[in-house]
Amino acid sequence: MFTDRGSQMRVLFAARPEAWQAWAPALREACPEMDLDRGGEPASFDAIIYAPGGEIEDLSPYGNARLVQSLWAGVERIVTNPTLTQPLARMVDPGLARGMAEFCTGWAMRAHLGMDRYAQDGTWRNDVVAPLAPQRGVTILGLGELGRATAAMLGAIGFRLAGFSASGRPVEGVEVFDADHLAAALGRAEILINLLPDTARTRDLLDDDHLAMLPRGAWIINPGRGTAIVDAALIAALDRGDLGHAVLDVFRTEPLPGDHPFWSHPGVTVTPHIAAETRPETAAPVVAENLRRAMSGRPILNLVDRDRGY
Ligand code: NAP
Repeated sequence: MFTDRGSQMRVLFAARPEAWQAWAPALREACPEMDLDRGGEPASFDAIIYAPGGEIEDLSPYGNARLVQSLWAGVERIVTNPTLTQPLARMVDPGLARGMAEFCTGWAMRAHLGMDRYAQDGTWRNDVVAPLAPQRGVTILGLGELGRATAAMLGAIGFRLAGFSASGRPVEGVEVFDADHLAAALGRAEILINLLPDTARTRDLLDDDHLAMLPRGAWIINPGRGTAIVDAALIAALDRGDLGHAVLDVFRTEPLPGDHPFWSHPGVTVTPHIAAETRPETAAPVVAENLRRAMSGRPILNLVDRDRGY
């Protein structure tokens, strides 16, 4: 039962304790009618703001919560929680989307311009002329909020864009391939960017067979999820020289264990899951809007489909 306190709502902040300081002021400013707390009687909460790493694993005592609002775009850890019965919304944040687009564009430019070619060793390497962006094929796996923002930024530079999504829904400026046409999407990818969510259907997608469909020398940029790539298959393809380089931001185990071969492989750049952060200043109004919708019984935005897993 929804507790009747007028427009007041009591909201549980269930995230890493360190996140509280960054989030609480922005959330309270965006939603002054919210009584935000880090703990208390479970039945007293009207909604839950969630991010991985907090203490609450069992959501069953929070039966009065009308919404679990994730602070993360990736919801694989909460959507698979068997105690989750409340509606779950994922994070859609303009700051997050811009951050991801900037990350992907930066690393794509490193690949495109061949920035790694110019070792400071006294050798005058002027024999390679990089193609212009319209001659460079970039494929984005996943054309959701982040994939589309990345496509818009790369498209503004002029790259020849292809994309891959479950539905194959059209995206302006992108040649879109649906779930049955992965091979065609990979075949165009001199630079491959993975922005797929982690679901049962995307796990291990980039295995030996699919990596072999990429053009020789292709770069992979993976800020999506580590589970999409079979680690051993990627290392083997790099070792054979089939792939040019991999920029990996996400991993099957995080932090990436110190003895993992990715750390020492010359064909791999490791970044520590920093591609894009949800920004309290841009995301708090998004959270506030969804909380108000949940409280007033209006449709909740960015609902996660449990069966699809994203
Ligand atoms: P989203 O809006 O839910 O979009 C997901 C996209 O993936 C959609 O285009 C969807 O297709 C497609 N897709 C899902 N399953 C598929 C399948 N089996 N085959 C083909 N396409 C499939 O997600 P988002 O907000 O863009 O976020 C994407 C992911 O980025 C998150 O899930 C998270 O893992 C990752 N992320 C990483 C960081 C970081 O810092 N590294 C930060 C934020 C997010 P449809 O369009 O047809 O539904």
